[in-house]
Amino acid sequence: LVLEMDLAEALDKDELFLVYQPTFNLQTEEIVGVEALLRWAHPTRGTIPPDEFIPVGERSGLIIPIGRWVLVEACRQAVIWHDEGYDLGIAVNVSARQLDSDDLIKDVRDALQRSGLEPGSLTIEVTETTIMHDTEATATRLHRLKDLGVRIAIDDFGTGYSSLAYLRRFPADALKIDRSFISEIANSEESTALIHTLVQLGRTLNIETLAEGIEDRVQLEALQREHCDHGQGFLFSRPLSVDALEEFLGTVDSQAPSAAS
Ligand code: C2E
Ligand code: MG
Ligand code: MG
Repeated sequence: LVLEMDLAEALDKDELFLVYQPTFNLQTEEIVGVEALLRWAHPTRGTIPPDEFIPVGERSGLIIPIGRWVLVEACRQAVIWHDEGYDLGIAVNVSARQLDSDDLIKDVRDALQRSGLEPGSLTIEVTETTIMHDTEATATRLHRLKDLGVRIAIDDFGTGYSSLAYLRRFPADALKIDRSFISEIANSEESTALIHTLVQLGRTLNIETLAEGIEDRVQLEALQREHCDHGQGFLFSRPLSVDALEEFLGTVDSQAPSAAS
């Protein structure tokens, strides 16, 4: 309850901020975009990760104004990077509660208009569990989002229970293969087999695949062998502040994992 009361004021008090985790083309190991990840600089508790306060925002409905702010802020920052000559895509996570309302479409449209970001540079991430919630309404909303020209990614893919029949009804541009599969690559042949199947599924449906949570070279090389398109993870970079990301962009060649080894 205390956290909920604090969260109600966090936006006005400028305590929320975004960090950005780079995503990479796994074949060339070049940076292709960033995912915006929300943080809360709590006045007494220190920085609180999203897993701890987003559920609070979901229950109270505060996630709606917070999610709106995330969209505006991420698009604004992406345009700054574009103006500086960095052609980065930007991915924004939206929660189940946001996807429950048509307001999401208006909020995405407003964020694009206010920032001037070209829609094709914005990816909206929805988790597999979220889209399975109310499939009919969700499919309609995702199609309306697509009509704005943005991309749709299905996050934490493989952890929900979506059937292939459902998947075809959602206008997905990317599948983000859940970190749990990646972390098991070295220990479990089943994980590798599942990754193989998910990448092939993406190929068949003409949907790009992205591996989440790549932490070491063994995992990277396994994913490269499977021809997974994109990836992100601590091996490449942790989520970074704006300043740290710009520094990373400036030195990205020397920081690429292949160059480092
Ligand atoms: P997600 O969208 O699946 O984001 C990926 C999470 O994995 C991030 O955690 C990231 O820091 C972490 N990660 C990335 N690479 C690695 C790795 O190599 N190893 C490990 N162990 N972890 C890695 P984070 O930032 O704590 O975010 C957690 C979740 O909170 C996100 O999962 C997303 O579902 C949610 N979230 C974050 N920002 C927002 C937001 O603005 N709105 C909404 N609705 N949800 C958000
Ligand atoms: Mg995500
Ligand atoms: Mg994920």
